[in-house]
Amino acid sequence: MAEPIAAPLDAAQGEVAELLSDLIRIDTTNTGDTSTSAGERAAAEWVACKLADVGIESQICESEPGRASLVARIEGTDPSRPALLVHGHLDVVPADPAEWSVHPFSGEDRDGYIWGRGAVDMKDMDAMVLALVRDWARTGVRPPRDIVLAYVADEEAGGKLGARWLVDEHPDLFEGCTEAISEVGGFSITVRDDLRLYLVQTAEKGLAWMRLTAGGKPGHGSFVHDDNAVTRLCEAVARLGSTRLPTVLTPPMRQFLDAVSEAYGIEIDPDEPEEALARLGGISRMIGAALRNTANPTMLDAGYKANVIPGTASATVDGRFLYGQQEEFERQLAGLIGEGIQREWLVHDQAVETTFDGPLVDSMVAALKAEDDGARPVPFTMSGGTDAKSFERLGMRCFGFSPLRLPPDLDFASLFHGIDERVPIESLQFGIRVLDRFLRSA
Ligand SMILES: [Zn+2]
Repeated sequence: MAEPIAAPLDAAQGEVAELLSDLIRIDTTNTGDTSTSAGERAAAEWVACKLADVGIESQICESEPGRASLVARIEGTDPSRPALLVHGHLDVVPADPAEWSVHPFSGEDRDGYIWGRGAVDMKDMDAMVLALVRDWARTGVRPPRDIVLAYVADEEAGGKLGARWLVDEHPDLFEGCTEAISEVGGFSITVRDDLRLYLVQTAEKGLAWMRLTAGGKPGHGSFVHDDNAVTRLCEAVARLGSTRLPTVLTPPMRQFLDAVSEAYGIEIDPDEPEEALARLGGISRMIGAALRNTANPTMLDAGYKANVIPGTASATVDGRFLYGQQEEFERQLAGLIGEGIQREWLVHDQAVETTFDGPLVDSMVAALKAEDDGARPVPFTMSGGTDAKSFERLGMRCFGFSPLRLPPDLDFASLFHGIDERVPIESLQFGIRVLDRFLRSA
């Protein structure tokens, strides 16, 4: 594989911070309800303008009024190669200005960071890709493969009105795409001055949100009562919440733990890897959850009066299962929930996993190492879910690769959906250089 000559990328590196600020200022809060979430249309139109400025045509599609996604195709120089999808979501989760040091939709440039909701999830990647393709268009650079750009709605509510809808209604837009890159991966964890792990996401846990409903005999709260729905439900909820399911090492997590072991020069007990993971700082909470299936109770609902025993009681549980573990997870749940309780799925979506190998991965690794000679790229499994679950349905191998070299002391994991979400401008510029090398050699 020929290494592309590093382009100057002055324009892209110069404008990325401003593009990100502008995009953050377009409030694309996704509340999960279209009547209060319509900023995606303005954001998609803004992206379309920025692309049109440099002669790139794009198409905006709406699943519901205001719920807009944008798709564009940059033609590659080698039509015999399959296309590569680069996708990012435009929506963000809500933010309460009272909790923040800056207004969450100000896009403020302060202390070398761009601040605001979406700065790391994931308007950062949106802006890096936009800055890069604008630079390419101005300087006449063309990638070898067709690159399909997708800026989509509704990721934060599961993608039903964004990626999932596009995949179901307009699969033609992704014709020929065999691989995809997007969010939650490609960022660094500093081991020491000359060694940084770059976590590339190759797998996502599956999603199983469920409602548990216990039945019992309704009655007066003052009587002797041995068939109480609230008691039965709470016993099941307590078992679920306090049981740690067994560790399962999937291939990406095995590779990840090997890399951690080697980088820090420590032995890792495969049955108790948590202790070793704690060294990674805040990110260990996210990564630790990818070592096993999990079921966390999140909502309770029962009763209407202090002296009335209700006939039913229900709870909502956020379940997540590893790739290949769906049946085992259901068996684990059944054992913990016990008798007399009904379980129904509220949201159920598959786990995805691909391997950390092949020419595309080689290009990622080479691009990271060319820009950071202390880079050690490693695969990992994401505990949450992204739009990769939708695009995988079209047969694409999906990777979380939004490259950022981060300062050693930044608690990056806490910024996702967090207060004072922000991203270093230097990290964005690094990301552009890596993406340029990667997309021109992929
Ligand atoms: Zn995201």
